[in-house]
Amino acid sequence: MIKLDSKVPEGKIDEKWTNHKFKMKLVNPANKRKYDIIIVGTGLAGASAAATLGELGYKVKAFTYHDSARRAHSIAAQGGINAAKNYQNDADSVFRLFYDTVKGGDFRSREANVYRLAEVSNNIIDQCVAQGVPFAREYGGTLANRSFGGAQVSRTFYARGETGQQLLLGAYSSMNRQVKLGNVEIFPRQEFLDLVLVDGRAQGIVTRNLTTGELESHSAQAVILATGGYSNVFFLSTNAMNSNATAAWRAHKKGATFANPCYTQIHPTCLPVHGEGQSKLVLMSESLRNDGRIWVPKKAGDHRPPNEIPEDERDYYLERKYPAFGNLVPRDVASRNAKYVCDEGRGVGGGRAVYLDFADAFKRIGKDGVKDKYGNLFDIYANITGEDPYEVPMRIYPAPHYTMGGLWVDYNLMSNVPGLFVLGEANFSDHGANRLGASALMQGLSDGYFVIPYTIGNYLTTEKPEKVDPKGPEFKEAEKNVNDMVKKLLSLNGKQTVDEIHKRLGHILIDKVGMSRSEEGLKEAIKQIRELREEFWTDVKLVGKAEELNQTLERAGRVADFLELGELMALDALDRNESCGGHFREEYQTPEGEALRRDDEYTYVAAWEFKKAGEWELHKEELNFENVKLATRSYK
Ligand SMILES: Cc1cc2nc3c(=O)[nH]c(=O)nc-3n(C[C@H](O)[C@H](O)[C@H](O)COP(=O)(O)OP(=O)(O)OC[C@H]3O[C@@H](n4cnc5c(N)ncnc54)[C@H](O)[C@@H]3O)c2cc1C
Repeated sequence: MIKLDSKVPEGKIDEKWTNHKFKMKLVNPANKRKYDIIIVGTGLAGASAAATLGELGYKVKAFTYHDSARRAHSIAAQGGINAAKNYQNDADSVFRLFYDTVKGGDFRSREANVYRLAEVSNNIIDQCVAQGVPFAREYGGTLANRSFGGAQVSRTFYARGETGQQLLLGAYSSMNRQVKLGNVEIFPRQEFLDLVLVDGRAQGIVTRNLTTGELESHSAQAVILATGGYSNVFFLSTNAMNSNATAAWRAHKKGATFANPCYTQIHPTCLPVHGEGQSKLVLMSESLRNDGRIWVPKKAGDHRPPNEIPEDERDYYLERKYPAFGNLVPRDVASRNAKYVCDEGRGVGGGRAVYLDFADAFKRIGKDGVKDKYGNLFDIYANITGEDPYEVPMRIYPAPHYTMGGLWVDYNLMSNVPGLFVLGEANFSDHGANRLGASALMQGLSDGYFVIPYTIGNYLTTEKPEKVDPKGPEFKEAEKNVNDMVKKLLSLNGKQTVDEIHKRLGHILIDKVGMSRSEEGLKEAIKQIRELREEFWTDVKLVGKAEELNQTLERAGRVADFLELGELMALDALDRNESCGGHFREEYQTPEGEALRRDDEYTYVAAWEFKKAGEWELHKEELNFENVKLATRSYK
């Protein structure tokens, strides 16, 4: 019987983490080298954890399916990373960052985790600057800041439009230092396919060597998953093409509860879908909303080119509806409103797009000024669309981008499976029902650099897990399970490709479990996903062999997992009879079309226990708000 214990420490919110750090048991420096820790994932969360745990003296094995740790999806992050430094002197503080994040998440996150995140945010910037991360600077040398949605202060640190890449280079260099010192060993081109439990504890993993197809078992005294989010369940998303949910999902099937799977983020500023043959969507960073103004024509069906539509016939709908935050409302609000205006027939460029217009910014700071701030993003736009955004407004539309749901973890970032820790986007921890821009990088690095080094030590020294033999029966059994699945997949000799099925899953999810959801649509989605899963297991066709590089096989395993996860997303959305953040249920909205939360019944984390495909048990972690008053979110 699973019992969720958040392990939030007692005491005042601003003292919890400090006291907890002091009370946790330490591992003697000489003993650290006796502990092996497996980390799956070398994105910002995984690489920062590997670097820090290696530096402390633990023996770390880091796994990634990429050919280089440096290729993790984190490299794509554009806009920036939040911290409460208050360099702008605009009244920012740890408490304000905490407050904005809890409010931005529509009061569905755990207060204590969010406070800690805000508290360590400043350490992250110091750490990264010390590593040499080239953050943008003001003329006088101080670090520059810009604004992101859901905040009225400027607290976002950035390196042009390539913040993720620069942060990852910092983490990666630190990790490589430990590789040289012998504390970290990197295993590239290895895909985690199963978690191994010994006496109920996470003590190892089974991986497939993606080049040779060979299965390998690795043991350790603790396992960390830092394997990213599951936006690619929608087929089209802004995530890297390879990002997937398999690691989290296989751990879920081994007992780790999956929390809030229906909380997904559809980002408002992406390039619109342009056809069925498309395999990827492209993000235009939210930072563009600092200077770009979003609008559509006031009249439905107005097909005039933008420069022929006079000012008084334009609707700057975000500025009109939310004057206090304007174009910088949080993502869920901006996305929903883009959908509304397009549903009203006021969308542009074929109907499913809105304008992001820099004309005012060009007048204010000149084209060179805009280029300085966003040059690479403008280049991306021009290269992909063939249009010059310095001459005509960009056209944008919401797209799946980030997943707030993930494996459930307690305050120590440990799942309900002892010894299995989950970091970064793979866990559910800090963003509630909606993540604010520039907060994912903050969370991944907070988890990796500043939280896990303490909490994993406490686990190891308290629980004292023994070393286990990777040839033991539990490993053999896990290898057999993986092998059986590989064989079953390769035996399928139907007519459809894996991508065809994945695309159809994506259509079901975006239509019925996307920006708005209804009871009827969700029930239909569950039925359709079940049927599609049946079809997958009977009518898909794979080519190639197990003992070689086989990308069809890789994708098939991931899509098999998505087909189960997709159903759980719909089930979770159906269970939550309220609207909050990215989860908008049509039956629960205010007369103005805003999300209607139902705090009396739904102030909980929904953590699902896997029973078998299509069957889950719901466990609830009640959320208590002692420092932020539950209120209707208003950005007006
Ligand atoms: C286009 C884009 C722009 C963004 N911009 C910003 C931004 O400006 N600011 C911000 O805060 N956030 C941003 N985000 C979100 C942010 O980039 C991600 O949430 C964050 O980088 C996730 O980091 P991570 O370490 O958790 O996972 P990832 O970076 O996704 O890394 C996952 C790692 O796990 C490995 N892995 C996964 N599964 C397996 C497996 N089964 N076996 C072996 N290895 C596995 C991968 O190889 C990889 O190394 C953006 C996201 C996108 C898509």
